[in-house]
Amino acid sequence: MPIATVNPADGETLRTFDPLGEQEIERRIAAADTAFRGYRTTSFADRARLMNAAADLLEKEAGDVARMMTTEMGKTLKAAEAEAAKCVKAMRWYASHAESLLADEHPAESDVRDTGAVAARVRYRPLGPVLAVMPWNFPLWQVIRFAAPALMAGNVALLKHASNVPQTALYLEDLFDRAGFAEGCFQTLLVPSSAIEGILRDRRVVAATLTGSEGAGRSVASIAGDEVKKTVLELGGSDPYLVMPSADVEAAARTAVTARVQNNGQSCIAAKRFIAHTDVYDTFAERFTDGMRALTVGDPMEAATDVGPLSSEQGRADLEELVDDALSQGATALCGGRRPEGFDRGWFYEPTVLTGVTPAMRIHREEAFGPIATLYRVAGIDEAVELANDTSFGLSSNVWTQDEAEIERFVRDLEAGGVYVNGMTASHPALPFGGVKRSGYGRELADHGIREFCNATTVWRG
Ligand code: NAP
Repeated sequence: MPIATVNPADGETLRTFDPLGEQEIERRIAAADTAFRGYRTTSFADRARLMNAAADLLEKEAGDVARMMTTEMGKTLKAAEAEAAKCVKAMRWYASHAESLLADEHPAESDVRDTGAVAARVRYRPLGPVLAVMPWNFPLWQVIRFAAPALMAGNVALLKHASNVPQTALYLEDLFDRAGFAEGCFQTLLVPSSAIEGILRDRRVVAATLTGSEGAGRSVASIAGDEVKKTVLELGGSDPYLVMPSADVEAAARTAVTARVQNNGQSCIAAKRFIAHTDVYDTFAERFTDGMRALTVGDPMEAATDVGPLSSEQGRADLEELVDDALSQGATALCGGRRPEGFDRGWFYEPTVLTGVTPAMRIHREEAFGPIATLYRVAGIDEAVELANDTSFGLSSNVWTQDEAEIERFVRDLEAGGVYVNGMTASHPALPFGGVKRSGYGRELADHGIREFCNATTVWRG
């Protein structure tokens, strides 16, 4: 994949970049290693000052950054602005919370007395330079979600961003530089994915985090496993969205539209499989389909646009294959199922609702990374849970019900890293984020996220 900015709204190549050569990669790994030796001993107060300075800069520059993201990957400008604001919030949250999240832990004296200890505690120490392999769909947020806690913990970062968002990747390096972080604390490596193995096998790179597809995750995790290096994987999802008889069906249908088409349908935590109880199925299906049909597809820079283009020609082709496979095997499109009329350029696709989906169809098993919903009817909660779990993914889940017993059942039985009740999945700095099954392992955000790249060191005193 060339490293280039190609505007998905019209297919025009705006800028291309040469990948870094081996010498430059070596220079940057060495800079990260050197930076870590100094940065690891800085105080939380110093790190917080730098992180807040970066947040202030980003807040000031949010408008320009949002336009850059929209140009590079096609999300609507309003979504890009919201993404920048979310990053600012997370940076400030970790700036003010990191010290308490990583404060020494003191097990009860009675619990450790039999070790002969006078005192024992746990100290969270940073690990070193961490490689972050990141996707294009939230080009700022995915990076900040890792970098804010990692830097606050005293680690340093090497970013290998997706090849279609190079300007956002370079902006991030520049942002941390201008905020005052020492040279080498945060570096962007403009390299193809084929360069990852060499970087990850370098002894100075101590761990990796990857957000992206299952294939990329498997590759990075096997290399890291071979090197016995820690990884966090945030991979794909095909989240269920369950609507039960006691739900506020109107609200469920309205939120379902947003949950499916956020980020032009290209979100790992977008609800993708809609499962409605037969008592409310018809009403839900009608309202949801009406909502999907009413969306405005168009220029992502326009304020009135709800759904912009897919990020790449290949992305749209993959989606079309999934839909065509389902339609050819008997599924029905309640709306969409094709490219919108009136666009001779850009990678647009109509918001689509499919029914009659069977396990034989690819879309039943695979992640649909675009504004495509599948809709299923179930007779009761057992069938709902079974269908929700009938996937190799386990990122998050959404359930709509007023029934406490049903909520408990979903919380107990849904195989996912999140259960969002009467709402849609959204990440927040204070709540852990991550999946089970093929959606990956490890957690980002909250205290769980900041501890992933720490050495939990036992300090024992006799
Ligand atoms: P992708 O193709 O896997 O790319 C993600 C990153 O991995 C890019 O930097 C890419 O570099 C690199 N990469 C690609 N193939 C690789 C390989 N074989 N080995 C090592 N690195 C490789 O994914 P994407 O299309 O950008 O993003 C969409 C996927 O990410 C979806 O499955 C989505 O659900 C998932 N996602 C998950 C989360 C989460 O938090 N769980 C969040 C967002 C997205 P190049 O661009 O140079 O190929």
